[in-house]
Amino acid sequence: MHVDISEVRCALQDERVLPFFQPLVDLRNGQLVGVEILARWQSAEFGPILPGNFISLAQENGLIDSLMSQVLGKAAISASILPAPLVLATNISPIQLRDLSLPNQILHIVERSGFPLDRLTIEITESALIDNLDRTQTIARELKAMGCKLALDDFGTGYSSLGHLQALPFDQLKIDKSFVQSMTKTRESRKIVAAIIGLGHSMGLTTVAEGVETEEQANMLLWLGCVQGQGWLYARPLPADRLPELIAAPPRP
Ligand code: C2E
Ligand code: CA
Ligand code: CA
Ligand code: CA
Repeated sequence: MHVDISEVRCALQDERVLPFFQPLVDLRNGQLVGVEILARWQSAEFGPILPGNFISLAQENGLIDSLMSQVLGKAAISASILPAPLVLATNISPIQLRDLSLPNQILHIVERSGFPLDRLTIEITESALIDNLDRTQTIARELKAMGCKLALDDFGTGYSSLGHLQALPFDQLKIDKSFVQSMTKTRESRKIVAAIIGLGHSMGLTTVAEGVETEEQANMLLWLGCVQGQGWLYARPLPADRLPELIAAPPRP
């Protein structure tokens, strides 16, 4: 699909980029732990368009703050029906970590909705951390001071991750779905997943597995000691009007 920046700009102007929500579950019983916001562009022409087609364009053209403001703003309002202790997780683009005003932006966006900041998780990808660790530390500390939790997203796929784990106040490690999906096929990736989970435990971090598609994967993760996950086995990302039924759903056996 070829997307032009002017189309992204229009989509934002017309508020056609919306938050979808993917449940984050306790793998032991399928109980809802929270939801991750995933942006979806509802195009009149093409239907829903995935973030891979527009997030980096928005980043490169100075539109990422406006995208966050719309998507997180709407998401926080919809998520205000989530009872404690359910969390709301949002993705941040690498380029946003260069901007010292990020914590304040998030504060203003979320404050308006009344959603509590201490149930907001900010997901950061490893690639974001390379270019300016000092600034990232400042931003990370400020987010933590606001009560937010920090997650290191796509763990294992980036660069020099161990140093970052030490330097930044993370609460959570997200195991990239590429490992989760090859884990049941090769011993090597199973060992990598086991090592990530062990590392998380020893550093006092929650490990969350992404891309859980099969019972076999869920069982292996549990066996390895990972208790939180998300993936198509539980649910695809859903629009805001499906949040009530996610909250009401009974735990799975
Ligand atoms: P991510 O944060 O790593 O999100 C996980 C991706 O895996 C999502 O792709 C999700 O739809 C997909 N996924 C979830 N469960 C499964 C599964 O069981 N199997 C498989 N194969 N895939 C699964 P999506 O929605 O296309 O988002 C792609 C990336 O775009 C995200 O990766 C995130 O980095 C970024 N992104 C999404 N929404 C936003 C946003 O609002 N702002 C920013 N800055 N980035 C966003
Ligand atoms: Ca994420
Ligand atoms: Ca990820
Ligand atoms: Ca990713």
